[in-house]
Amino acid sequence: MHRDQSGRAASVDPFSAVADAVYRIDRRWRFTYVNAAAARLLDRRAEDLVGQEAFACFPEIAGTVIEDEYRAVLGDGRARDFEYYHAPLGRWYEIRAFADPGGLTAFLRDVDVQRHTAQQRAAALAQLGAVLEALPPATVVLDGAGRIEMVNRAWTANGEELQREGDRPARAGERYLDAMARYVDREHHECIAAGLRELAGAEVTTAATFSLDYSQQIGPTESWFRLQAARVDASDRIIVTHTDITERVRDQQALAWQASHDDLTGLPNRARMLELIGEALVGSRGRAALLFLDIDGFKTVNDSLGHEVGDELLRQVGGRLTEQVRPGDAVGRLGADQFLVLARDCEAAEAAALAFRLQNSFSRPFLAEGISVPLSASIGVAAAGPGADRAHQLLSDADAAAFAAKGAGRDRVHVFSPGLRDAARWRLEVANRLRDGAVDEFVVHYQPLVRVDTGEIEGVEALLRWQHPERGLLTPDAFLSVAEETGQLIPITRWLLGETTRQAAEWADQGLPLRMSVNISARHFSAETLVRDVRVALHDSGLAPENLVLELTETSVAEDPTRAEDQLAILQNSGVIVAIDDFGTGWSSLAQLLALPIGTLKIDRSLLSAAARLAAGGTGPVLAAIVSLARTLGIRSVAEGVETAEHLQMVREAGCDLAQGYLLARPMPASDVLRWATRIRDAGGDSCALALQAQGR
Ligand code: C2E
Ligand code: CA
Ligand code: CA
Repeated sequence: MHRDQSGRAASVDPFSAVADAVYRIDRRWRFTYVNAAAARLLDRRAEDLVGQEAFACFPEIAGTVIEDEYRAVLGDGRARDFEYYHAPLGRWYEIRAFADPGGLTAFLRDVDVQRHTAQQRAAALAQLGAVLEALPPATVVLDGAGRIEMVNRAWTANGEELQREGDRPARAGERYLDAMARYVDREHHECIAAGLRELAGAEVTTAATFSLDYSQQIGPTESWFRLQAARVDASDRIIVTHTDITERVRDQQALAWQASHDDLTGLPNRARMLELIGEALVGSRGRAALLFLDIDGFKTVNDSLGHEVGDELLRQVGGRLTEQVRPGDAVGRLGADQFLVLARDCEAAEAAALAFRLQNSFSRPFLAEGISVPLSASIGVAAAGPGADRAHQLLSDADAAAFAAKGAGRDRVHVFSPGLRDAARWRLEVANRLRDGAVDEFVVHYQPLVRVDTGEIEGVEALLRWQHPERGLLTPDAFLSVAEETGQLIPITRWLLGETTRQAAEWADQGLPLRMSVNISARHFSAETLVRDVRVALHDSGLAPENLVLELTETSVAEDPTRAEDQLAILQNSGVIVAIDDFGTGWSSLAQLLALPIGTLKIDRSLLSAAARLAAGGTGPVLAAIVSLARTLGIRSVAEGVETAEHLQMVREAGCDLAQGYLLARPMPASDVLRWATRIRDAGGDSCALALQAQGR
């Protein structure tokens, strides 16, 4: 009903335009109104129905749900809502009946299509439910509003576990994202929310999926899940599975840990340290410093005390270093006896202070398996700066500084300077060239050893030179340590033994029998091959064994005296002479050295000049004491580095057997040796006298 402009009530059919069928009946079940849609539905004309009793028109409704419900509405005046199957048309209707003053008004809507789809949906849902139950991962189905519509058994089981741990499980009806907010951190939650949002907006036809790995704390343990979400075909539902991948993630984490840490100490390894250095260089405004620690003489510790003690000591070193650094700093192990300390936000001066602190921390001896072992470290310090703004560069700078520290003696700290970079570059170049066959560029120079009493030439010392194509003739200090480190020195010496014995044999054939002295490195001495290498060289050249002298440094013998004694005895039995080289530079006791089966003692030139100073002060003939002690044991002595007439005088007075030095002759190529010897012989044979004469004495 509505009113026209004059205010009079106009009688208008209120439901004529409504798509639903509408009719009214009075309390005596007579139609009082039927709209057009209702007339169509009931297949009668409206005017034929109005005024008629419903049961008379449609006897089939008697006893149906319609009769029951209408009676109820007419009885208590409350509205009813129900579905009705209209058999003549074979369709389902939804009927809503409201009480009105005259009786009731009924609205009928054809819901046959909806009802079918709803049934199909229910069937599909039941099927989906069965599939869900069969799925091993915890799975939920979300409705279009993001609520949990269904969950499977695995999800329920997980929920029960959560409950045991005091967490609230997610149940059907709850918003999925609300539930997940309880289990995952904010970052993961945001990802999940975004993923689901995108999925909900995606075209159903596209195979839209979303997946994410997240961690969840369940009680004391951290679990990992892979969430995979997908739109359920042709509906706005989303199915989300949660596969437990904890074991896989743990395996991966263990692998990653192993790949980035050192087994022995549990410290970060080289690769991990490089990463950490890289991060430190990016952060803290590029202010970072790296300390490179090399434990002094650790090989000896390992060899003498055994690897178990060695390993324990390395663990303790790692521990002690870790105690010394600040929380943000890192201690790593490069392998063997080398450690790294990364100091963040730290400049060169502070880093050097840290180095001294670390050095100090070594002053207390280490205790392993009941043995107290004093250890020291050579420490290289490098701070980040121009030219050292990358991890590898900083590491190689620190390495170069540590190398310099080691070269200066044990227990030193050395701060990097750019000059070391050239040295490091050079060492690298040498290592590469040695590997690529630079051995062909090696030559041997020979320096005469002369008898002090007669001035006659007795032998020569073979000294290695490298004829470098660009840098010219290089002396051993430029390449020997690299050759030793890279393991090239043994093959080089093997070649040298062959070359020098062949040369000595050739000179003997030419009427100049000379004793050939060859330097042997400590590593070669401790390797089993030396005895065989010597035997092969003598055999191939035909040189008599007593014409070959092997020079071993004092330190290489002192490192492991018992082992050395056995080796030396074997060499002596084979007839060759063993000389102790550079005597006076180590700390070994003279008495102990001289007890070894050796033939010659070569007194280092540093001792000669020290002795010279002593002599100048009138303090006493140290040199003479050494020489006479050696002589009583049948050991001959050689004075090295005789550069001046005074040196020669002193050496003669001390009673040295042989002398070697620039005063008498410099090292020279093989081709010059014969000429030099001939010149001395032609001038009377006394090289000492000739040398002094040349000095104008
Ligand atoms: P070294 O065995 O003590 O050799 C003597 C060194 O002193 C040689 O230096 C020689 O040139 C130098 N020299 C000789 N007389 C004088 C002198 O009057 N004054 C001064 N200041 N120096 C003098 P070089 O040839 O540079 O060799 C240095 C070291 O390199 C050698 O010291 C030796 O330890 C090592 N070396 C040389 N050749 C070989 C080799 O073939 N094998 C091994 N393993 N080491 C070698
Ligand atoms: Ca020597
Ligand atoms: Ca020497």
